[in-house]
Amino acid sequence: MFLSAEREISMNFSSLDLAPELQQAIDACGYKKMTPVQQQAIVVARRGRDVLASAQTGTGKTAAFAVPILQQMLARPKATVPGTPRVLILTPTRELAEQLATNIARYAQFTEISVLALYGGVKLGGQASKLKAGVDIVISTPGRLLEHMTLKNVELAKVEFVVLDEADRMLDMGFIADVRQMLAQITSGHQTLLFSATISPTVNELAHKLLTNHQEIRATQLNSAADTVQHVMYPVAEEDKTRLFKTLLAEQNWYQVLVFTSTKEQADKLMAALKTSKIDAAVCHADKSQGARRRAIADFKSAKLQVLIATEVAARGLDIQGLDHVVNYNLPYLPEDYVHRIGRTGRAGQQGNAISFVSREEERTVERIERLINSKIKRISRPDFAVSNRESLLKTVRKHSKNSRTNKVSQTVIRMDKTSGAKIKPKAKPKAKRPTK
Ligand code: AMP
Repeated sequence: MFLSAEREISMNFSSLDLAPELQQAIDACGYKKMTPVQQQAIVVARRGRDVLASAQTGTGKTAAFAVPILQQMLARPKATVPGTPRVLILTPTRELAEQLATNIARYAQFTEISVLALYGGVKLGGQASKLKAGVDIVISTPGRLLEHMTLKNVELAKVEFVVLDEADRMLDMGFIADVRQMLAQITSGHQTLLFSATISPTVNELAHKLLTNHQEIRATQLNSAADTVQHVMYPVAEEDKTRLFKTLLAEQNWYQVLVFTSTKEQADKLMAALKTSKIDAAVCHADKSQGARRRAIADFKSAKLQVLIATEVAARGLDIQGLDHVVNYNLPYLPEDYVHRIGRTGRAGQQGNAISFVSREEERTVERIERLINSKIKRISRPDFAVSNRESLLKTVRKHSKNSRTNKVSQTVIRMDKTSGAKIKPKAKPKAKRPTK
């Protein structure tokens, strides 16, 4: 199934000799061979060692940390204690928390182990009563967990396993002070697993502070995108992007497409334009209620919607099976975010397409992205969306400009060269001859 990684995969899950209920769940998920990150992380982590893993998006990171944790929990079974989870998984966004919870619950489906996702935007009460009833694995965004800690709904002292997912983003969002405060509550000797798609020097530094005698795993080239993704870009003027999107949607018959915009306003504007054209779409950004965001994602996943428009923060980590097309309506400011965005397609070895709309102002970002992913992005220039480059723009300006102007004070006529735009030095006037006597 993992086409890109097939050459590297040799081990089946069955060779791990996992607890029967865990193996049964993996069989039920249809996984046979391990992905490279799973192959390296599971063996090390099940022995209890701390891990720092960098892995491409969509290559099975969740199972890479969940399977060794579940295996150790099953090997040392304990009764669930109200308000005191055994596992704490921290992740930056609500959607990611939900998605991890869904996947981990699938891996734990034949065990007694319970899983709960905690995130803001919904009432605390429901989550509090579930915590108090007792859960084994808590997956949370940092802010919401701190709220529950303050309200004494949860107690972290006895946590045995900690996972920091998307560690680079956790740092980006300024969560690190919260994370440290939470980890300081854990008094038991615990195992820490740190996973990140991109590993910056800051992540590395953090890892060295939070991990003990850790094993570093670099399953794939750092900061790379899945090689099952085809990258193309369309040079297009900013004001023509919506028209280009609608044109491609109609011409290429995209069945399901996730579109990233940089701002909420752009997302809403595009949504309005698609609505006018009767295209089934929804928006997912931070100003939408949690319910609306969840509904949008669910409708998109179940193919009720053709287009999901999202901003970065809302769509991070989403796992949408068989998503063929991701469109960057705008390029992200950070090249690393390009890797995250397009990580929504080409997952689990399937072919994916990353399409970027690039205005002249965004050209520089393309260069930085190409350097990061270490490959050239194919440019498709459409005559119906011709965008003038700097040179041709200057030519047009010059063509329409006069070839001379007059200095108002001295009334001198200054002549200009039409091609270069430079001033032409006036020819020296021949010296007046002295009148002969
Ligand atoms: P993740 O990177 O954990 O979000 O996983 C990406 C996708 O790959 C999810 O849909 C998983 O269900 C799927 N997946 C994870 N591990 C495997 C595996 N060993 N074989 C096949 N699919 C997998």
